[in-house]
Order: sequence, then structure tokens, then C-alpha cells
Amino acid sequence: MTLQTYFMEATYLVASILFVLSLKGMSHPETARRGMFMAEAGMFAAIVGTLVGTEIVSWVWIIAGLTIGSIIGAWMAIWVPMTAMPQRTALSHAFGAFAAAMVGIGEFIVRGSELGAITRGALGFEVMLGALTTTGSLIACGKLQGIIHGKPIQFRGQNIINLLVALSMVGCFVYFWMHPEAAAVFYTMLGLAFVFGIMLVIPIGSADMPVVMSLLNSYAGLASAATGFVLGNNVLIIAGTLDGFSGFILSVLMCKAMNRSITNVLFGGFGSVVAEATSNVGGVMREISLDDAAMQLAFANRVVFVPGYGLATAQAQHAVRELAELLEARGVSVKYAIHPVAGRMPGHMNVLLAEANVPYSSLYEMEQINPEFPSTDVAVVIGANDVVNPDARDNPKSLIAGMPILEVDRAKSVIVLKRGQGRGFSGLENPLFFKPRTTMLYGDAKSTLSHLAQAVQHV
Ligand code: NAP
Repeated sequence: MTLQTYFMEATYLVASILFVLSLKGMSHPETARRGMFMAEAGMFAAIVGTLVGTEIVSWVWIIAGLTIGSIIGAWMAIWVPMTAMPQRTALSHAFGAFAAAMVGIGEFIVRGSELGAITRGALGFEVMLGALTTTGSLIACGKLQGIIHGKPIQFRGQNIINLLVALSMVGCFVYFWMHPEAAAVFYTMLGLAFVFGIMLVIPIGSADMPVVMSLLNSYAGLASAATGFVLGNNVLIIAGTLDGFSGFILSVLMCKAMNRSITNVLFGGFGSVVAEATSNVGGVMREISLDDAAMQLAFANRVVFVPGYGLATAQAQHAVRELAELLEARGVSVKYAIHPVAGRMPGHMNVLLAEANVPYSSLYEMEQINPEFPSTDVAVVIGANDVVNPDARDNPKSLIAGMPILEVDRAKSVIVLKRGQGRGFSGLENPLFFKPRTTMLYGDAKSTLSHLAQAVQHV
């Protein structure tokens, strides 16, 4: 081994350790930022190690790639708003998976017939998974951005067609593995994988996109691990496997949070808006004035804020913290209830509230806070809808039946901050808004919270 190779292997070891530590760090909001920096440092070490330890064919392509990639990455990090983070992540998965597929195609062209059986298998796997993740992630991105309709696209015989496409793709993979010179079969497998990625994601509604995305994340990771096998690159194998399995674990955890199985997410067509699936909705929504709401809050003993997607769109995280501080100064106990799928990405509410310096000790997970609602004087729902929909608990026919919710309807009083009659992601009506203990405070969450804070000061 040359000195350069030693250096490369050493940086790979350091990078791998940093990746493991970064995952550990990201498992808690308090250490998540540090975890992110560790991942960045690990990636930087891996790139430097590769550049030093590998024979460089052309610096021009590498510098061009680094420059274009850095510009696009910086542009995305600076300009893409927090609310568009899920689609941005989907786009990143598409890029990563496409890169893995391209490396596989390149390897096939350069030394396809020389590869041993195991490497050939890894190459086929990499190209297949990379290609289907590319198109699947692009469709997911389009659905989340609203470019493609968010409703599930379903037609008669869809599962059979999907199965046929999947079987043909796997058949081509096996044939290519046995006959590596069969270029036509290899490219047919590639084409089928692109088609399969589309077919896999179009029948899934946008409400289920986060689960799909973490599954696609897992596929992109496994494709990268396969790339590592093909190129004999250890850091790719380790990083890809970590990515693959953490993505899978996240998918399982999210399914648990929505009380659904992965099979149900992939083949259930959830997210279609079926109006008659909502029951028990009747009566009127009662409006509350700003001053009355401020009065309730100022004289309460216990207040729980329940943030949802509307908090993110309104960017109301600072406004809620300011109101909370005013209430606490008056001796009110203030807590924040965090639902695992509130917002549009895992940990969305934690990230927003952390940005506004809300102390972690004030954030309570669903299981912790639900028993406290009956003794809560006022639950303030800020732009949340599906995650507080009692139909999920009470109506077995509801499309979100079984999804665990924040049981705000058990609080002594509920004030809902939203702009109007807009529905949540699932498109369902929410019986909470019609309950006798619920009152509605209409307006953009940020300005409503600021006005509430002013009103509380005058109580
Ligand atoms: P939600 O059900 O989507 O409801 C958001 C509510 O916020 C809407 O009813 C809307 O009503 C209100 N709103 C929007 N902008 C507002 C503003 N500027 N000010 C005040 N209110 C505003 O949100 P959620 O309760 O957080 O539930 C999340 C949903 O998204 C779940 O169905 C979940 O499964 C799904 N999902 C989650 C993730 C994830 O990983 N967290 C990702 C994708 C999808 P108005 O229009 O009347 O204001």
C-alpha cells in the first residue's frame, strides 16, 4: 500500500466513525445540530481521502462537479424555505440515487463482463435500486410541491401491472447476472426500474409521502452501499448501509405514529379525499374574540400549545415563544405538545421551536402530554388539524382511523388558531372545531399570536 492509500483508508475510518456519531447526535434535538456538523465533517474527510488516494483521470471533471454541486447545494440550503424541506429532501434522494445508478452504468460500460459474480450482482442491484429511487423521489417531490396532484392516482389492475413490471425487472436482473454480456437486458432492466419507481409512488397520496420518502431514502442508501461493493470503496458501503437502515427504521417509526403498516402505506391508497368518511360533524363553529382569548390565557393555570403545519407556514415559532414567556411571567404553566407527524416532515415542530429557542424541557411528546389534557385549562391549537382530529380515535370509518392524536378535546377549553375553514393534509373535516368547548380564533397564526401577546400584557 502506498502512503496515499494509507491516508485514504485512515480518512475513511474517521469518516465512518463520524457518520455513526452523527446519527447518534441526530437522535435528540439538543444534539442534532452537532450531529449534522459531524456528518458534514465525515463527508468532507471522505472526499479529501478519495481525492488523495485514488488515481485521478481528469481534474477538470472533478472541479466542475464540485463547483456545480456546491453552488446548487448552497442555493438550496439558503433559499429553500423550511416549509419546502420535504420536497427538497426528496430531490436530494433523487440526485443521490441517480448518481449511484450512473456509476453503475459507467462500471457496466467499462468493465461489465470482467466483474465477478458478487460484484455483478451488486452492480445490478445498485442500478435497479438507484433508477427506481430516482423516478420515485422525483414523483414524491412533485406531489409534495403540488406540481403533480397529491391525490393517489389509481386504476383498475394497478397492483397486477406493478407486479408484472417488478417481476420483469427482477427477471432482467437475474438474466444479466448470469449473462453479463447481455447489454440489451441490462438496459431493459434500467428502463423498467425507472418505470417501476413512478408506478410505485403515483398510487400513494401526499399525506403518506413522508413514509414513502424515508423508504426511498433507505433505497438510496442501499444503492450507495451496492456502489461501494462494485467500486471496492469501504466508506460507501458503511455510509450506504447506515443510510439504508436508518431510513428503514424511520419508515417503521412513522408508520407506528400513524398506526399503519408499511404494506398499507404502499398499497392502501390513503390520502384520497372521501368526504363521507367523516362523521359526527354538525353544529356550528364558535368564534372567540382576541380579548376573550387573551383573558382565558392570562387567568389560566395550565396552558398547552399544540403546533401544527400552520405554525410552519406562518413562521409563528418566535411569536408563540414570546406569548409563552409572557404567560409564564404571570405564573401560568406552559407546555408544548408535539405530535410525531405534525407539520410536513419528521421533527418539523421540534426544529421550528428549537430555532425560536423554546427550551426542550417544555416540549412534550404525545404519550407524555395526552394524560395531562383533562387538567389543562386552555389548549391552544396553532395551525394543527389532522393531528388533533378526534375522528381518528372515535370514528372507525375515518380515513385516519387509528392514527394516534393529541387529545386536545379533553382539555377544559380549546382555542384553535387558523385562517379559515381550510382542511388539513388528509382533506378531512375536523369535528373538534364543532365541539362545545372549542372556539375559533381566525387569522394568520403569527399575527394572531402577536396580537394575543399584546392583549395579554393589557389584562
Ligand atoms: P394539517 O392537518 O395539514 O393542518 C394544517 C392547518 O393549518 C390547516 O387546517 C390550515 O387551516 C392551518 N393553517 C395553514 N396555514 C396557516 C397559517 N398561516 N396560520 C394559521 N393556520 C394555518 O397539519 P397537522 O395537524 O400538523 O398535520 C400534519 C398532516 O400532514 C398529517 O396528516 C400528517 O400525516 C401529514 N404529513 C406529515 C408529515 C411529517 O412528516 N410530519 C409529512 C407530510 C405529511 P386554514 O387553511 O384554515 O388556515
